[in-house]
Amino acid sequence: MKLADRSAVVVGSGFGGLSTACYLADAGADVTVVEKNEQLGGRASVLERDGFRFDMGPSWYLMPDVFERFFGHFGRSPDEYYELERLDPHYKIFFKDGDSVTVTADREATKAAFEEYEAGAGDALDAYLEEAEETYEIGMEHFVYTDRPRLRNYVDWDVFKHARGLTFLGSMQGHVEEYFDHPKLQQIMQYTLVFLGGSPKNTPALYNLMSHVDFNLGVHYPEGGMGGVVDGIAELGAEMGVEYLTDGEVEAIRGSAGDFRVEVDAEDGEGEYLRSDFVVSDADYAHTEQELLPPQSRQYDADYWDSRTYAPSAFLLYLGVEGDVDPLEHHTLVLPTEWNDHFDTIFEDSAWPDDPAYYLCVPSETDETVAPEGHSNLFALVPIAPGLDDDPETRERYREFVLDDIAENTGVDLRDRIVVEETFCVSDFTDRYNSSEGTALGLAHTLRQTGPLRPGHRSSEVPGLYFTGSFTTPGIGVPMCLISGQHTANAVLEDYGE
Ligand SMILES: Cc1cc2nc3c(=O)[nH]c(=O)nc-3n(C[C@H](O)[C@H](O)[C@H](O)COP(=O)(O)OP(=O)(O)OC[C@H]3O[C@@H](n4cnc5c(N)ncnc54)[C@H](O)[C@@H]3O)c2cc1C
Repeated sequence: MKLADRSAVVVGSGFGGLSTACYLADAGADVTVVEKNEQLGGRASVLERDGFRFDMGPSWYLMPDVFERFFGHFGRSPDEYYELERLDPHYKIFFKDGDSVTVTADREATKAAFEEYEAGAGDALDAYLEEAEETYEIGMEHFVYTDRPRLRNYVDWDVFKHARGLTFLGSMQGHVEEYFDHPKLQQIMQYTLVFLGGSPKNTPALYNLMSHVDFNLGVHYPEGGMGGVVDGIAELGAEMGVEYLTDGEVEAIRGSAGDFRVEVDAEDGEGEYLRSDFVVSDADYAHTEQELLPPQSRQYDADYWDSRTYAPSAFLLYLGVEGDVDPLEHHTLVLPTEWNDHFDTIFEDSAWPDDPAYYLCVPSETDETVAPEGHSNLFALVPIAPGLDDDPETRERYREFVLDDIAENTGVDLRDRIVVEETFCVSDFTDRYNSSEGTALGLAHTLRQTGPLRPGHRSSEVPGLYFTGSFTTPGIGVPMCLISGQHTANAVLEDYGE
């Protein structure tokens, strides 16, 4: 089906927006992507300062198969835009009791490391990963790539046939406990839930597929970091005629199919209107509905958005430092042996965590172009509750605390050799991305917010208005947002394609 002679405006240039733009342009539409900020990529923005280049958001290039399939749809492959390097080790974990474990690409070595914690854990890992692989293959084909926007779409033979044996509804906590007793092994199998914005207690066991992603498919680093992937996809779009307008904040969406008027507040203060047949919003769903649409065009009221479970926000500390940061690896996790308190401060009683689990990313371990010679580039990411007050004094206090914690638990003292530094937190997510409650990730993947229970790709109130990105299905994460762009474009084609 084609969309020849039709025009579309895509609001927001995150991966969901860039992906939708590619699919719509490929179908023949004239597409303009309008982005509020000075660069494309949304939460995958890049910060450049004094010879350091930081990926501000995503840093784990997971599910390489999804990127292959995305570029493959357009007759291209990722390596025409960026090279990939497989990381080995995948990551290292420092437990705060002085213990550490490194997960490598070598399954036998990882099994041996697991056996150190618990007799039989090596075989349990094989069994766990076998199930995770099955869940991944079934889940991706029948639930992620197949869009099922309504609950009734689940009532079909295909779902029954393939849902057989899947431990869908229990919690990840219960699922992991069936395989591993040792709390540290449980933590290793569960840390990927942070990618989904959930906790082991509130995320359905279906997401054990993340372990297949991590252990079997491997962890890769794209040339140029995640910013290189943004550039690659934007270039692909440009080759198909997509136009990009940065420094343009959309202030209102009016009209409907065939006659949209998108009001843009350009950086130079000159307001302008864009006319289009369709509009796709990749901006946060709540922002689009509450701020850009008139009340009669909204599908959900303020109570709906207030009652959602938002994924965590984050305290981020971008650091350029002198010298090396051994023994940190490219991906390093620092975990307290008891981490439930941290999850409680995110999902139960909102507070700054006083014994946090956090992530350190050191791309200069792999890529010498991200830091000047003789320096290291890293960031620390502490997941925190959305909506937390992040006034300057609190941020300063927390910065000191995190630097102390890194020194104490990894042995790497950064405090006297920082040459470039920037923090990013709840209010910055709201200011920079119009993020609801300052969430870093969107809507958490709780059972009540998974699949058809997420807000839809089509507006039920405004014909011709669509949504994409991490608030919609399939959900959070770069690969998911790429797929969401395909679902959204398919919805436009189903409704208006000829
Ligand atoms: C710190 C962090 C770490 C992460 N780590 C990973 C990881 O390692 N791996 C992974 O796969 N995923 C990771 N993610 C998640 C991933 O980055 C996101 O799920 C994904 O990038 C979101 O894409 P999106 O399509 O939802 O759009 P977004 O990236 O949310 O972009 C939306 C865009 O809309 C723009 N916008 C908003 N309002 C307007 C307006 N009124 N007018 C014009 N433009 C507007 C915003 O400026 C923004 O550019 C991480 C995210 C963060 C924040």
